[in-house]
Amino acid sequence: MINKITGVNGPINGWLDGHTYLIGLMAYPIRHSMSPTMHNNAFAKLGLNFTYLCFEIDNKKLPKAVEAIRTLDMRGSNVSMPNKKEVIKYLDKLSPASEMCDAVNTIVNDNGVLTGYTTDGIGFMKSLEDEGIDISGKKMCLAGAGGAATPIAVQAALDGVSEIEIFNLNDDKWAQAEKNVKTINEKTNCKASLHHLEDKDDFKRAISECDIYCDATGVGMKPLEDMTLVEDPSWFHKDMTVFDTVYAPRTTKLMKVAQKAGVKHVLNGIGMMIEQGAAAFKLWTGEDMPTDYIRQVIF
Ligand code: NAD
Repeated sequence: MINKITGVNGPINGWLDGHTYLIGLMAYPIRHSMSPTMHNNAFAKLGLNFTYLCFEIDNKKLPKAVEAIRTLDMRGSNVSMPNKKEVIKYLDKLSPASEMCDAVNTIVNDNGVLTGYTTDGIGFMKSLEDEGIDISGKKMCLAGAGGAATPIAVQAALDGVSEIEIFNLNDDKWAQAEKNVKTINEKTNCKASLHHLEDKDDFKRAISECDIYCDATGVGMKPLEDMTLVEDPSWFHKDMTVFDTVYAPRTTKLMKVAQKAGVKHVLNGIGMMIEQGAAAFKLWTGEDMPTDYIRQVIF
């Protein structure tokens, strides 16, 4: 099968040889992912003899795929949908955040012992830190309780956010939202509460009282790119942070409303995406991903 590339047109020494460590990404569908480009460019930049490959793995193929991590002595893998929860039963250990989220996006193989981590929340917190924003001791309003919102809420609570008001529709993620609130209240010092997104007065109140509003619903991304949960700039105040987990488009409708309101920090999900990858990269290699370089050459 012809699968031509650009950019590699000379001899490569000490890379992709008999000593290369393999990292996988196990999900379905997954061929569209930017993660292989991000990690392989970071390995090349640092001269690390690792490679990162995508594998189309659904729940059915997952047991054999996880066993292959041990059999092939892979250094680890990322996992994404539909495997983030399903994979837990095949692992040996979980990080505290992973246990609280009941989800894994990164596996590390230490001599056959597989540990599951979740790095999305770490990526969220680090992307704020990169912008000089410290939300410890602060109040958060969070829309969503899915695959992105759950690790964001858990990591924010673990890292010292004092209060999180979670808003969700009464849909199939409501039970997960209830679980997130219960776990945070039981296992951290953060006070969490659950509210109906349909109650616009309550939602408006929570946003007006918070230091950071985070939308982790995907509203603002295709096919909902013309939508935002907050239409009125007067709901925001200037000293807050507005964070949209969406990264395509780079400027969502929510971000435009926040910019119109003169909000101090308005962020999209690109920083979170790079930093969740950097956290996994550090777990596998022990090295810091060159995130400025990655941002410059890829995003
Ligand atoms: P998900 O399907 O797991 O969860 C979606 C959440 O949004 C649920 O809580 C659901 O109740 C809510 N929701 C869905 N439609 C809604 C609507 N019309 N109005 C209000 N709420 C609605 O999805 P996910 O994996 O959590 O992804 C959510 C968003 O986060 C996506 O845009 C995704 O691209 C983004 N994301 C970004 C990163 C990053 O690193 N920046 C990482 C993961 C996900």
